[in-house]
Amino acid sequence: MGTAANTASSQKKFEFVGGDLCLDFTNTMGGKRGVAPREYLNSYADFVSWCRQAGLLDSSKAQALARLAARRVQDSAAALRRAIALRETIYRIFGALASDEPPQASDLDQLNAHLSSSLGRLRLVRSRKGFTWSWAEQDESLDQPLGPIARSAADLLTSPHLLERVRQCEGDTCGWLFVDSTKNHSRRWCVMSDCGNVAKVRRFRLKQRRARSRK
Ligand SMILES: [Zn+2]
Repeated sequence: MGTAANTASSQKKFEFVGGDLCLDFTNTMGGKRGVAPREYLNSYADFVSWCRQAGLLDSSKAQALARLAARRVQDSAAALRRAIALRETIYRIFGALASDEPPQASDLDQLNAHLSSSLGRLRLVRSRKGFTWSWAEQDESLDQPLGPIARSAADLLTSPHLLERVRQCEGDTCGWLFVDSTKNHSRRWCVMSDCGNVAKVRRFRLKQRRARSRK
């Protein structure tokens, strides 16, 4: 829904309606890209806050990254630019696929570049039931949440049954991406109570106008 992210408090409250981490990340831009976009990641602190709300960072890691960013202002600005570049790459890939278009090779190259620099941090670790993937700790890297985000995009791209369900909200002032997990594949809006209602009201008004003009 392009109107999300309440800025009333110092901590933005982000919306998680995409059904997939990488799509939720693309939805940190509101409005319609190329028309009237609204940026919700205006600082590295916003990015950390999103990662915390997305469950990518626990509160102690989020605080550690925030402290690191405060010490390294320029580095954190550069890390935010890289995060936004990755986000837009992911957006273009899935935006194309949602319109049944092939993604640009340059965007896949960009995603592959992110993957090659981050997947080396994946470790197999013992879990209660066997083994699981885990990310190696990187205390001094402001980029560390980018690995799981890039991997989430790779996982979605390699999951045909989910990939064919990736949709883009049909709202006039929205372009959010989501996985349609409804049984009859009928989800058209990021949030029915928002974009879906706007469309309903518009259809109703149009009908009224037509009815009046026929009188
Ligand atoms: Zn929407």
